[in-house]
Amino acid sequence: MQTTLRIKPHHFLDIIRDFGEGREHGPHPYGHLVHVAARTIREHPETVLELTAEPDEICLPCRFLVDGNCIDVTQSPGHLIPKDRWNRLIDGRIFERLGLKEGDRLTALEFCRLARERLGDLYSLYAEADRDKTTRRRGLLESGFAIYLGE
Ligand code: SF4
Repeated sequence: MQTTLRIKPHHFLDIIRDFGEGREHGPHPYGHLVHVAARTIREHPETVLELTAEPDEICLPCRFLVDGNCIDVTQSPGHLIPKDRWNRLIDGRIFERLGLKEGDRLTALEFCRLARERLGDLYSLYAEADRDKTTRRRGLLESGFAIYLGE
């Protein structure tokens, strides 16, 4: 069984949000490993996360990872930008709010508890994003936290 998972903080939170939505993760057309990471996180909360803002274990087989760089784009801030730039912005804010840094290691359960305690206002975390989407994200994330923490 895998005991460590190198992961971007926002990838972890997206998976917890998906748990709140009741989503069954399966293989994605991009070829990335969100479904595998989600299963590991769900079944093994003792898994040690090694936090990174660089491409993580989810990214490794993704068709948008080229020469070690994510070449995808996103409309998340309301206009088209490189996804890597957006991800680094959000991951940087998450690191700051949680008092963590790249290379820090803690279990999935510990990270989840810390995120629920310290993540704070999502509208400023995702300040550039569509507010309605953030409202939906907030509800699903709260549900996901409760499910994962067994409440
Ligand atoms: S699109 Fe980019 S960030 Fe997302 S899994 Fe692929 S390489 Fe990683």
